[in-house]
Amino acid sequence: MHEDKIEAQIGTKAVWAGEKNHRVFNASQVPVVVSCAYTYDDVDEWYDVALEKRPGHIYGRNTNPTVEAFEQKCAELEGAEAATSFATGMAAISNILYTFLRPGDRVVSIKDSYGGTNKMFTEFLPNVDVECVLCDTEDYDEIEAEIAKGCKLLYLESPTNPTVKILDIERLAKASKAVGAMVVVDNTLATPINQTPLMLGADLVLHSATKFLGGHADALGGVVCGSHELVKQVYHYREITGATLQPWDAYLLLRGMKTLELRVTRQQTSAMKMAEYLQGCDLVDQVNYPGLATHRHHDVAARQMRGYGGVLSFALKGGMDAVRLMLPQLGFANRAANLGAVETTYGPARTTSHVECTAEERAALGIADGLVRLSVGIEDVDDLIADLDHAFAYLRSRI
Ligand SMILES: *Cc1c(COP(=O)(O)O)cnc(C)c1O
Repeated sequence: MHEDKIEAQIGTKAVWAGEKNHRVFNASQVPVVVSCAYTYDDVDEWYDVALEKRPGHIYGRNTNPTVEAFEQKCAELEGAEAATSFATGMAAISNILYTFLRPGDRVVSIKDSYGGTNKMFTEFLPNVDVECVLCDTEDYDEIEAEIAKGCKLLYLESPTNPTVKILDIERLAKASKAVGAMVVVDNTLATPINQTPLMLGADLVLHSATKFLGGHADALGGVVCGSHELVKQVYHYREITGATLQPWDAYLLLRGMKTLELRVTRQQTSAMKMAEYLQGCDLVDQVNYPGLATHRHHDVAARQMRGYGGVLSFALKGGMDAVRLMLPQLGFANRAANLGAVETTYGPARTTSHVECTAEERAALGIADGLVRLSVGIEDVDDLIADLDHAFAYLRSRI
């Protein structure tokens, strides 16, 4: 096969990785295998497969051929030895945390993690006596001091959602290695097109595949990639506790991923133009996009990422009242809780990433009332900017 001889680039891998080993009947596409269980005439063969002495499948909660193709594609894109998948991104996150943490352990993370992740740290892990220290995302002195005190796991997310802050993964991974801590990175917003955390020193990288990997907002899923040894432990927790990715969703994610490079390239070119447009708008207080030279972490982003991604956020001067007036005016827009889809999607932080948080919690996180997350789609960017122009004209007429 050519792919054994050529070290393919990431756009090629997005199309081909994980596919060929899973084809049947000469079909050019991976099938959706919906079988709950796999049948064996030879009991010894069955036993060997169950003991993982030979390849195969036993039961759908554990493994499935369509799901396995999706996992292999993710592993190859992240440059990982192995991957295992989940019903959702939050299942990936909670399963990783419960696999490795024990009562008395300490976790260091950041205040700006995804809302659901934040709840794991503030609500569920303390229930099982795991101490969770959430640091100011921009204070390296604080993060490094907390790591140096000793911790089992450092949990990072970069860029963050929806504030789009950037963390220096390599620097913090180094600090963690010094105390023997495991480093876990949520790479959902960057995608493996722009950032491969395992190459920056992370031990595990995870995605909400619901977002950019799938790209079409029609399938939920999660995935974690890393070494055989670590992924096997997370897989074992998931096969027993049961947050399994469904085969039909795995197929949709697999199909979506073939265009990942194409979509992300387009989305970030447009995101840059929209960020510049928003920066020039008198009704906007603040624009968060790491591609802007004015972004506080632009230097780290430029070093660490191959592109700046398709997500930005901006704060409207009039707060939630302005959001209520403006968002319904947009034509090429879903007003929805997801991101990373082919359609442009707008969502106030308080109804999307941080819907799980109270108003007080959001204020403590520095999330402005009028903060809107914008996930740029694959439409023609001139139309998207014209749409914003129209909505701002309306807003101006009402204030
Ligand atoms: C959406 C999201 C999650 C959670 O994923 P689900 O698939 O909704 O469970 C985790 N992290 C980030 C950064 C996300 O955007």
